[in-house]
Amino acid sequence: MESVLRARPVVAVIGGGQLARMMQESAIALGVELRPLVEDINGSTGQVAVTSRVGMPSDADALRSLVTGASVLTFEHEHIPAPVLASLQGTIPIEPRAEALLYAQDKLAMRERLSELGIPCPRWAKVEDEKALTAFAEKIGFPLVVKTPRGGYDGHGVRLVNSASEVADWFTSGPLLAEERVSYTCEVSALCARRPSGEIRSWPLAQSEQSEGVCSIVTAPAPKISSHTAERAKEIAEQIAAELKVTGVLAVEMFVVTDESGEHVLVNELAMRPHNTGHWTIDGAVTSQFEQHLRAVLDLPLGSTALKVPGSTSVMVNLLGSRYTDPALALSRALHGHPEAKIHLYGKEVRPRRKLGHVTVVHHDPHYARNEAEAVVALLRGDNHE
Ligand code: ADP
Repeated sequence: MESVLRARPVVAVIGGGQLARMMQESAIALGVELRPLVEDINGSTGQVAVTSRVGMPSDADALRSLVTGASVLTFEHEHIPAPVLASLQGTIPIEPRAEALLYAQDKLAMRERLSELGIPCPRWAKVEDEKALTAFAEKIGFPLVVKTPRGGYDGHGVRLVNSASEVADWFTSGPLLAEERVSYTCEVSALCARRPSGEIRSWPLAQSEQSEGVCSIVTAPAPKISSHTAERAKEIAEQIAAELKVTGVLAVEMFVVTDESGEHVLVNELAMRPHNTGHWTIDGAVTSQFEQHLRAVLDLPLGSTALKVPGSTSVMVNLLGSRYTDPALALSRALHGHPEAKIHLYGKEVRPRRKLGHVTVVHHDPHYARNEAEAVVALLRGDNHE
């Protein structure tokens, strides 16, 4: 039986960046109150949510004010200190739960668990010191990819190394994850959402391109892979969601490799929250990842993940940095002559290479969609602006 709500749902969310900001758009439509915990009231989310509480997650008073009277607590990033989660245990439903969130926080724990489940991953090892790393390299060969288990994002905490000494500085803070360097044909992201009662829905697979370690372009449905591989990627993501009892949106980043046995996928990492590779769903899918995340954490029935326009391709291009003091100053130029472009600006202060917004174009011609989205982003970035 479906759960029956007794009061207007209040979703408390830790984080005040663009993800909570975009959750607010969906919360407004659903009549759900979003209550974010933000570091800065003038930040991306603070600007758009009058219900914001200000403080750090480690601030007990701020946390109490955040969860009092709320229906559920969720997150826009995974870097929530364990003591914070422990302090809330039993006071409010937390979605995703700490037991699941661990696998998005700790890459070693994730590799161990996925390997136990028989999910295909790059060959990997937990290495405690340079000697262990050299021993792994003797089996696999350099170069290797070495990662800090916790706290990485956008390529920080990932190094491609040709000798163990290149990560000598990292061993001081604990064991590292060493992986074979995968020669992939492309990177894809399998996005799904799961609600506590078990319902799971997947969006069409997306393909992502990175520039300098940061996601820059996402195309959905993924154009370069076979329908068999796309189906397999979806099965893997849904298996992970079910086995780890993930709640809310789950993004499974994967490498697509082609070898003598054909095309297959290897899981790179997990994110348990709306993800950059799912921004296209706002404009391209019947239900956006932000709406679905709210529905899932509230254990409400999930929405259709079908393409809004059957047969269309969505291309999302990130706006990374701008020559304008505020990219909104370029709105008139950027909108002119690009009537299909959907611009999303995050209200963030400009810094070099910072994610300031994104543009999505949904079209039956993928090349047109990509060219248009890139052209509009170039205008917002001020490529020709003095
Ligand atoms: P982050 O937590 O910073 O997102 P990831 O583990 O996703 O770190 O790695 C960032 C990027 O580095 C990936 O998107 C991919 O391009 C590259 N990368 C990571 N692991 C490997 C690997 N084993 N082989 C090849 N490239 C990798």
